[in-house]
Amino acid sequence: MKQLVFLLTAFVFGFQSNRTAAVYQAPEPAKTPKNIILMIGDGMGLAQVTAGLYAQPEGLNLERFPATGLIKTHSAKNLITDSAAGATAFACGCKTYNGAIGMTAQKKPCYTILEEAEAFGLATGLVTSSSITHATPAAFIAHARDRTYMEEIAAYFLKTDIDLFVGGGMHYFTDRATDSRNLIRELVEKGYVTGDFTQKPLAQYSPDPQQPFVWFSALKEPESVVDGRDYLPLAARLAPEFLARRSDKGFFLMIEGAQIDWACHSNKDTMAVQEMLDFDRAIGEVLRFAEQDGNTLVIVTADHETGGMALLRGADRKSLKIKFTTDYHTPVLVPVFAYGPGAEQFNGLYDNTDIYFKMRALFGFPPGEEAR
Ligand code: MG
Ligand code: ZN
Repeated sequence: MKQLVFLLTAFVFGFQSNRTAAVYQAPEPAKTPKNIILMIGDGMGLAQVTAGLYAQPEGLNLERFPATGLIKTHSAKNLITDSAAGATAFACGCKTYNGAIGMTAQKKPCYTILEEAEAFGLATGLVTSSSITHATPAAFIAHARDRTYMEEIAAYFLKTDIDLFVGGGMHYFTDRATDSRNLIRELVEKGYVTGDFTQKPLAQYSPDPQQPFVWFSALKEPESVVDGRDYLPLAARLAPEFLARRSDKGFFLMIEGAQIDWACHSNKDTMAVQEMLDFDRAIGEVLRFAEQDGNTLVIVTADHETGGMALLRGADRKSLKIKFTTDYHTPVLVPVFAYGPGAEQFNGLYDNTDIYFKMRALFGFPPGEEAR
């Protein structure tokens, strides 16, 4: 439309040869996002996506993304990554050893995109269907030599001014063996509004963006969606609205569908499909926000595939049969889906670490701070 107005303007004034009245319009710069929402389906390979897609008569929200890519998921020394190294690749842009939480292969802390976003005044958030101290969210905020140091990881939530987090793992904040700190009390003292599943469900909270917000969904690991967990899509609706009001500079949010991986580790086909569909519902909530906002880039990807899931013909021509070929992760390429300003940069086949560099460049962060 703008181009058309410019052409018409040029046309009209051109024939009058009235130079002073000619209006110059600079070409519009390539659009970059104000907000980035990174969504990680833990263990979500193409077979998991396909199984979800054909289990759902109306299809998946994932089908609405205009840009798609594939990533290589290997870690520093292993063809098969774990979730800690996989998340650190997204958070810091470095290939590291399996088990590393926000640490380089040389066991040095690496500066994460969440920490950097916070330093630049953006709002930040983490949402997961695992404990909040679990490898995937942890790698965005903590620096630990090993993913099993849950209490050490929990203490990092006090070191960064994260604006919102939702997940399990309350136990690691309040019943600590390594020290007697009560991290929830410390969060409250820092100005956080905190809530948890023992008080009331997330649906009954409407957090005021004047204060940072935390909700714990479980003492340790939340239950699976087949056993009644229902907060992930809700949190995916609440978090972008909340963060958008926390800072006018934009936000970085990571949302994880954690239990696709767990279902595939234990070779549970129904659970795998239901976790996939739950994650896709969260994707739908995020897309609705991004469509209305217009300045939000949504990236959906996976840290690795789990289970070596194979899809075979079921009992009849229309049904699927899921078979697992392992109870661990596999090195198969995993998909990337992107929507919003900058989405086209996520087409192609590249490394998991490139997700970090692309996000950082699209945020416009100055060079030199990466992998600090
Ligand atoms: Mg995970
Ligand atoms: Zn796993």
